[in-house]
Amino acid sequence: MTARNDERRPLNAKEKLVLSALLKLGRPASAYDLIDDLKSEGVKAPPTVYRALGRLIDEGLVHRLESLNAFVACTHTHSQGAVAFAVCDDCGSVAEFESEQLSGMLGDWAYKAGFSLRRTTLELYGRCSSCSRVST
Ligand SMILES: [Zn+2]
Ligand SMILES: [Zn+2]
Repeated sequence: MTARNDERRPLNAKEKLVLSALLKLGRPASAYDLIDDLKSEGVKAPPTVYRALGRLIDEGLVHRLESLNAFVACTHTHSQGAVAFAVCDDCGSVAEFESEQLSGMLGDWAYKAGFSLRRTTLELYGRCSSCSRVST
């Protein structure tokens, strides 16, 4: 199977469905969570969902959280900064932020190490502010 490079075509109906499902969830979701969610819309085949996710990632509309093997809708536009996610262990909320300082630091390291950097995704784990407030 070859991945055809149809550039800049508008999102198709399935891609839009996947994106809106992710936006509605507002938290990281696995492909299977999405399939579950989209069953009623007639999207049942995992390859369809993976293909849609791949496209959305390419477009910068969705990010993949590698360690969770989950996907999250992106609500910002990105400039040059490294993208970081703070994931709450308790409620599963994800705060996304971008840092040019971080990407500067990492870029410096990569340059010195002769490492050709493709992309940077940082994942921070801990407790979000509202979960920290509730003491157990
Ligand atoms: Zn983003
Ligand atoms: Zn939390």
